[in-house]
Amino acid sequence: MAPNNDPIGLSVVVPVYNEEEVIPELYERLKKAATQVSANHELLFVNDGSGDASLMKLQELSQRDSRVFYINFSRNFGHQIAVTAGLDRCRGKAVVIIDGDLQDPPELIPELHKKHLEGYEVVYARRAERDGESTFKKITAKLFYRILRRLTSFDIPLDTGDFRLIDQKVVHYLRQMPEQNKFLRGQIAWLGFRQSEVLFSREKRKYGKTGYSFSKMLRFAMDGITSFSDKPLQLVTRLGFTISFLSLLIILYAFYSHFILDKTITGWTSLIISSMFIGGVQLISIGIIGEYIGRINQNSRNRPLYIIDKTNLEKEVNTDTKQSLSR
Ligand code: UDP
Ligand code: MG
Repeated sequence: MAPNNDPIGLSVVVPVYNEEEVIPELYERLKKAATQVSANHELLFVNDGSGDASLMKLQELSQRDSRVFYINFSRNFGHQIAVTAGLDRCRGKAVVIIDGDLQDPPELIPELHKKHLEGYEVVYARRAERDGESTFKKITAKLFYRILRRLTSFDIPLDTGDFRLIDQKVVHYLRQMPEQNKFLRGQIAWLGFRQSEVLFSREKRKYGKTGYSFSKMLRFAMDGITSFSDKPLQLVTRLGFTISFLSLLIILYAFYSHFILDKTITGWTSLIISSMFIGGVQLISIGIIGEYIGRINQNSRNRPLYIIDKTNLEKEVNTDTKQSLSR
């Protein structure tokens, strides 16, 4: 059987950032799960500028197994961009996005696929519990998903990461979404289609440590909000109006008190407090507006999303984001 001519049944896209210890086990478990779904599958690893031996391990695998492909970035571009690069190049009829640290169990893939066969174009894996993550991360993640849900006008499923199976169709449309500030789970929710879920419990990280620092997490959260909601801007406007209205009332009272009651209001404290309050509100407002403008700026530069250093994928499928955009 010539694997290259048959349609590929399943692609698995795996972002990899400093995961050298986990790669052997990751490969074994992915291979088993993918084979169960389709003998004609591909495992596509995106090495996101790892500083360890991850690339070497991936290259070794690709020499042993012709269904293993890798993309090596020129530097660390971040998790969402790594997944995007994989989605830009994968060829399967169904595509699974899964973390490379085995926190998402590969054994769930056949279950996701079963739902796909039932006709769902998006099957996401929902975390029933998060094992071994800090209370801080659990609380902030929960809070973030709830806030995001209130701010957006469409349904972003709660407590899901990017671990999911999506249909070729969904991949096709994702390739046409050009934003630099990726928030894939939001984009996929925005696209619609029939969506379903499978529950799983998220495991502890066995090897290595999280590649998501607090500042990366914060930026990711801001990307999610600014890409899918204008409500913070509306809030700022409303806040501005409310405060202006309140200060107008105070000014009127001051006039009344000075001219009618003949009492001039004294007080340094009230003056300082109110001007500091207004100053704070203004800075926050400018900050929020700045977040949006910064993103407009990034997108207007029109840079490629990522730079590929090496890959064992064929030239023909070398469509970069720009090319797939103009299609
Ligand atoms: N990752 C990546 N680039 C990064 C950070 C993480 O490709 O800059 C990968 C990482 O190898 C893993 C996945 O993204 O496969 C999820 O990252 P991580 O486990 O660090 O996030 P967490 O599970 O702590 O949210
Ligand atoms: Mg993880």
